Amino acid sequence: MSVLDLARPEIRAMQPYSSARMEASGGRVFLNANESAWAPPGDGELACNRYPDPQPAALVDALARLYGVRPSQLLVGRGSDEAIDLLVRAFCRAGEDAIAIQPPTFGMYAVSAQIQNAGVVTVPLQSDFTLDVDAVLAAITPAVKLVFVCTPNNPTGQLVPLRDVVRLAQALTDRALLVVDEAYIEFSDAPSATSLVNQFDNLAVLRTLSKAWALAGARIGSLVANEDVIGLLRRIIAPYPLPRPCVALAMQALADEGQAAARAHIAIVRAQRERMASALAAMPGVREVLPSQANFLAIRHDDAAAVYQRLRGAGILVRDIQRYPQLGDALRITIGLPEENDRVLDVLQQMAADVAATVNETTAGQGA
Ligand SMILES: *Cc1c(COP(=O)(O)O)cnc(C)c1O
Repeated sequence: MSVLDLARPEIRAMQPYSSARMEASGGRVFLNANESAWAPPGDGELACNRYPDPQPAALVDALARLYGVRPSQLLVGRGSDEAIDLLVRAFCRAGEDAIAIQPPTFGMYAVSAQIQNAGVVTVPLQSDFTLDVDAVLAAITPAVKLVFVCTPNNPTGQLVPLRDVVRLAQALTDRALLVVDEAYIEFSDAPSATSLVNQFDNLAVLRTLSKAWALAGARIGSLVANEDVIGLLRRIIAPYPLPRPCVALAMQALADEGQAAARAHIAIVRAQRERMASALAAMPGVREVLPSQANFLAIRHDDAAAVYQRLRGAGILVRDIQRYPQLGDALRITIGLPEENDRVLDVLQQMAADVAATVNETTAGQGA
């Protein structure tokens, strides 16, 4: 059985749209795409009057090298969000098929499923926020075509060990595509599941330049998978997903200087993460700091709403994650610059001091 047997038959039968840019090889005078002959102001070398390459070879090669796979095993698009959406559309028949997720987790999987009218099978993480492989496997019905696993998980920060990814991929062979979202893997100690794509044709790995590579604004994400899956998605992705300025920024980020900067910033984030985790754990009113392998911390508070408001009042925005299951008392704080992290600790320290003062006044008042 081919992994493509899991995909929607009408998508497999589709002929790809042939864009003018795809038919452009060998030309020197381009009068085939109704573009302007003049570059826009401030264009430099970008040639933004021309449509971009659908999958720019230099960028695909650089990303494939970075992730240790062949260029034919990689699709680059507008962030991993686009890859999630393409997967759901290609594999889930509306009103019939489903995805599986493990809440609390990243919201886009369920959003893409809802847009496609696909079902969402949920298998909650365990009380320590680790993934229960047996429970996930027990919940897989024939309708489930995609199983999303987020590692490190957003918003909790924990890893799914690679041996669990292997177990899932093995058990789901010929049944479902396992989609491992590694948006934060660069901040962790763990090896990437991209090393397993030659071994499992039903494994897809999401990687992004949005987090560790500082390019959230450029929207560059990759899907790494078996080349049949990549070939299928190349047929349905929008004709020109990657703006030329974004491709240029990505190429700079992946050149030597950019790589060195990314490595240095990852080291700072990791050190600051440990510093913030211990400082916050010692703070009055903090119930628990969840162990994190990402560039954020999920923190349970006695009064999360009050902490959120206090930080907001000081101009510091954090993410309120109280709506997530099992996280009704939690906030998620991204690791920022060291001085920004200091500000967070200062505000929380001041808040704790104010609370202590109020308690003392009340006790003194009662005593009188
Ligand atoms: C941020 C994030 C993404 C989104 O990545 P883009 O490449 O910016 O679309 C994907 N998955 C998770 C878990 C994230 O937290």
